[in-house]
Amino acid sequence: MAHLEEQRVTGSGEGRTLFVPPMDPVCARLLAAVFRSTGYEAHVLEENAETLAIGHKHTAGGECVPCPLTVGALVKAMQDRKLPPERVIFFMPTACGPCRFGQYAKLDSIIFEKQGWGGIRILSPSAENAYAGLDNGARMRLWHAAVVGDILRKLGMKVRPYEQRPGETDETVEQGLRRIEKAFEQKDLGPVTGLLARVVDEVARIARRPEKRPLVGVVGEIYVRCDPFINGQVCRRIEELGGEAWLAPIAEWILYTNYLQSLVMESSSGLRAKIENVRAWLERNLFFEKWEHHYYQVAEPVLHDRKEHPVADVIEAGGHYLPWQFEGESILTLGRAALFIRRDGARAVVNASPMFCMPGTITTSIFPQLERETGVPVVCLFYDGSGDPNQALVPVMHYLREPAPASV
Ligand code: SF4
Repeated sequence: MAHLEEQRVTGSGEGRTLFVPPMDPVCARLLAAVFRSTGYEAHVLEENAETLAIGHKHTAGGECVPCPLTVGALVKAMQDRKLPPERVIFFMPTACGPCRFGQYAKLDSIIFEKQGWGGIRILSPSAENAYAGLDNGARMRLWHAAVVGDILRKLGMKVRPYEQRPGETDETVEQGLRRIEKAFEQKDLGPVTGLLARVVDEVARIARRPEKRPLVGVVGEIYVRCDPFINGQVCRRIEELGGEAWLAPIAEWILYTNYLQSLVMESSSGLRAKIENVRAWLERNLFFEKWEHHYYQVAEPVLHDRKEHPVADVIEAGGHYLPWQFEGESILTLGRAALFIRRDGARAVVNASPMFCMPGTITTSIFPQLERETGVPVVCLFYDGSGDPNQALVPVMHYLREPAPASV
């Protein structure tokens, strides 16, 4: 059986090849760079229709689509590169709770075993302890990578819809990303701030049209909302249809797991719970939020009106619809959508989920309430790699751009 473990990012990497799932085109590259800084030969897996088909071949058909997407990409890489399984590590975090994500790594290990690749190690830190199973230095650098990746993506999404020269924003962000990737390959993250400031300055100087487009918040299941391959480039589709998209960040989930630890510990008794609670509070305030604030300050010239809300506010807003004890992505999706509408001025929200996703199904059943309360449309889209679910955006974006005439 392939070996599952929480903590492998230690020491020199031992010359192993580590594969990162391609969940987000920006953050995944920075995460791989952090793993390279620890001595691994780290790569982001490629994904396309072929890798998804391979994933479906190796799964039963009832799994949510991030499962065949990720395992198919790994199987294809193993077939193409013909690597000795015992030299390969697959990065597949896990979570506990009611949804199926906690089963991915276990299912992956069974699939690898059937392929005769039982030697593959699966690096599987858990959301249950806010990924504390990772080596602390690497975990902290991964946090920097997640926040900087979110900001780079946001820079592109804020400016691209208005650029006068098509392609200039993507080119500028890509060049900045390459420089920052190189910095993350070093253990000293000192240069990252200056490099981020440089790309912010370059993006700020891109010539833009003075129009104002309707803002659309994008929430939902983290893999599908962030992965342009499986979501049919939903954010760019919003742009093509005349809007500006604001995608909920990856960092939100990491902050949530940390905050949830505090909530659970607060509701428990005993000295150990209290100590853990203090530890999680200190970590959040002295590290996670401190660095998030720092990088958003650097990005202020462009992203002054694209800052994220404290995770406690997201949970509070979501708590209007679900109790926090109902752990998982549903409360984040609902809370962030409510804040997009009530605080950020979004004129519509897109809720992106894999087909049959449990949190996606729950939030889809609750969103009509938010629509009634606010009068703002929430478009719930489910993806499995077939068809074009984004077609549902066409009429919504049309009426946001050209409101219906007042009736006489
Ligand atoms: S959040 Fe949805 S897609 Fe992700 S594992 Fe849970 S049920 Fe599946």
